Amino acid sequence: MHFLPEDVFDLCLGRAKKLMGPEKYNSWLSNASFRSFNDGVFTVGLDSEIRANFVTHNYKDHLEELLREVTGDSDVSVVFTHIPETLSLGRVNNSSRHELFSNFLKPSYVFDRFIQGPNNRLAYATAYSVAYEMGQSSTNPLFIYGGVGLGKTHLIQAIAHHIKDNHPDRTFCYISSEEFLTSYVRALMPHKNTAREMENFKDKFRNSHYLIMDDVQFLAGREGTQELFFHLFNDLYLRGRQIILTSDRPPHEIEPLEERLISRFQSGMVVDIKPPMLETRLAILNQKLKDENIQLDKEIVFYLAETVKSNVRQLEGAVNLLAANIRIQHLVLSLENVRSIITEYLGASSRRLNPSSITSTVGEFFGINPNALKGKKRKREILVPRQVSMFLLRDLTNLSLEEIGSFFGRDHSTVLNAIKRVNSMMSDDSFFKRKILDIRESLLG
Ligand code: ADP
Ligand code: MG
Repeated sequence: MHFLPEDVFDLCLGRAKKLMGPEKYNSWLSNASFRSFNDGVFTVGLDSEIRANFVTHNYKDHLEELLREVTGDSDVSVVFTHIPETLSLGRVNNSSRHELFSNFLKPSYVFDRFIQGPNNRLAYATAYSVAYEMGQSSTNPLFIYGGVGLGKTHLIQAIAHHIKDNHPDRTFCYISSEEFLTSYVRALMPHKNTAREMENFKDKFRNSHYLIMDDVQFLAGREGTQELFFHLFNDLYLRGRQIILTSDRPPHEIEPLEERLISRFQSGMVVDIKPPMLETRLAILNQKLKDENIQLDKEIVFYLAETVKSNVRQLEGAVNLLAANIRIQHLVLSLENVRSIITEYLGASSRRLNPSSITSTVGEFFGINPNALKGKKRKREILVPRQVSMFLLRDLTNLSLEEIGSFFGRDHSTVLNAIKRVNSMMSDDSFFKRKILDIRESLLG
């Protein structure tokens, strides 16, 4: 998905309106329309020669300043021209059916294959109702949050599948917030000659009945993207379009996120998914074993359900591992075999992702002794890696802010600040960001 120069221009017009006041704005700029963007030059049409001249003399500098601010590119400029009435038709509308990004939908992520239990039932029911009846104010936006591997992506893709299969008249746009970010950054690069492609995309996007965005926590700390997202959100929302979002945490814990976005996110329905209880884990296991065509003694299934409990992805991982063992070694698995395979499996992931492993990996990357991270020193060489460790602990484990704080002998607000700091350093400094991503990857092995 791409953000077009057109979006950027609209955004600046909005800001100009605030700065100029409605009266001046209405006399001069209200019918300004974006025409093209080439080599860093925005061409803007106005409906009369006089207007175009006046605006050029009086507002060009201001608009350029705004455009530069939004794009972060100090070379962009704007040209105003008179576009005769017959030519200024506004934007092309393409109302054909769209399934944006539906190639990212996993065929198995459908409602029928989502096992319900007390800890995900509300999320399931709400997702289901939104798939049937969109845009109800009580469930718009729908915001689903919960830890990793608990079925958020599965549920929102189920909505997309449902629309695809049952409502040919409705369109949706399914995207992760990371893709959204990347596209935003790409659209701000003036050199790409993807104007037509972008134009098509843009129309599709605006025409979507459903905006489905996964993992919105990645918008944290990205101010430019947040602003554009806010406008997009409002545009769709005001036209009764359904918005569906997921995150690994509730809206108010996404930091730093603009206050107005937080309140938008909270204005519909916020539901959480918690780790599944034993019965649900059993049911999920049985479904998965059936898929893999594996038969195990009841006793073994029960052992698995009891032991592998942090999330569903982990449960699936365990079944895949057993399946591989059966296939490769043609083993008939006994409880003993399974016990040792699973002990090793759980050990490996908990060895990798716990406070000491994370701080020691961070220590390695920054070339400092991990013990110093738990100490009191506030020198920058220590402070930054300490903040990074807190950030990664929050990101990669299910520990609460308090628990992370107590590992470092600090309180939860220190941890929250650290996360904020790291987010903002990551968006300011691509080198730093790369480093964090490398550490993260090495931890995820
Ligand atoms: P999240 O997006 O919350 O990290 P996913 O939606 O990717 O989690 O789920 C991880 C895996 O677990 C997926 O393969 C998904 O199909 C499966 N899964 C999660 N919850 C359930 C459930 N309630 N019933 C069946 N499968 C589930
Ligand atoms: Mg997900």
